[in-house]
Amino acid sequence: MPDLPEPLDVIAVGAHPDDVEVACGGTLAKLAGSGRRVGIVDLTDGEPTPFSLGPAARMEEAGDAAKVIGAVQRIQLDFPNRRLFDCFEHRIELAKVFRRHRPRIVIGFGEGTPMASPDHLQAQLITDAAVFYSRLSKWDDHFDGLPMHTIQRQLYFRLAMEPMTIAANPFHILVDITETLDQKIAAMECYQSQFAHKNGMADRIRAAATMTGSIAGVAAAESFAAARPFATQDLFAAVGF
Ligand SMILES: [Zn+2]
Repeated sequence: MPDLPEPLDVIAVGAHPDDVEVACGGTLAKLAGSGRRVGIVDLTDGEPTPFSLGPAARMEEAGDAAKVIGAVQRIQLDFPNRRLFDCFEHRIELAKVFRRHRPRIVIGFGEGTPMASPDHLQAQLITDAAVFYSRLSKWDDHFDGLPMHTIQRQLYFRLAMEPMTIAANPFHILVDITETLDQKIAAMECYQSQFAHKNGMADRIRAAATMTGSIAGVAAAESFAAARPFATQDLFAAVGF
């Protein structure tokens, strides 16, 4: 059996470097700040984009953003940007990451983004399948001998600029990011290639977090939906005490 690294508590999966920061950077920073081991997977390098100096510069930005968030691991897979498609090989590659790093929670896209990149919906399909493939038995030869691993919870995020919740999914959870909103904005601002030319982007993301938080009476929040509903053993903890 291959040597395995110390497990991660949570892995967030984006299609492009910056997706995860925009969608759930505040939550990841909060988890990291409380001692959780946070990992980020970018399925593509996100390049080309109009104002970027190229993949190396984008990867440097992603590394800086991961440091701001406090992620202990950032993994970039080499799937193709702009023509990302759900397929068997991509499912296997991502499931290998899950089997190697053994997260308890996986967070990723939960819907398409019309008029923005179609890669996001494909990322959801790949992530859904990889979460399932990660726990399949009698299939180890597809995964370089990595042992099967059951991911206990899967959550869907939304990009901060999208509508406030995933409309088709009733199982919503808001995470209070009042204390880490500045970290989220700072992580986002590491991506000069993506946001420097878009005036007011930080304000929009801050406003979206504020609006989402106002639903639950906190200063700022990020919204998630459970891929499948789950039960709590502790009602007080589940309702925020
Ligand atoms: Zn994206």
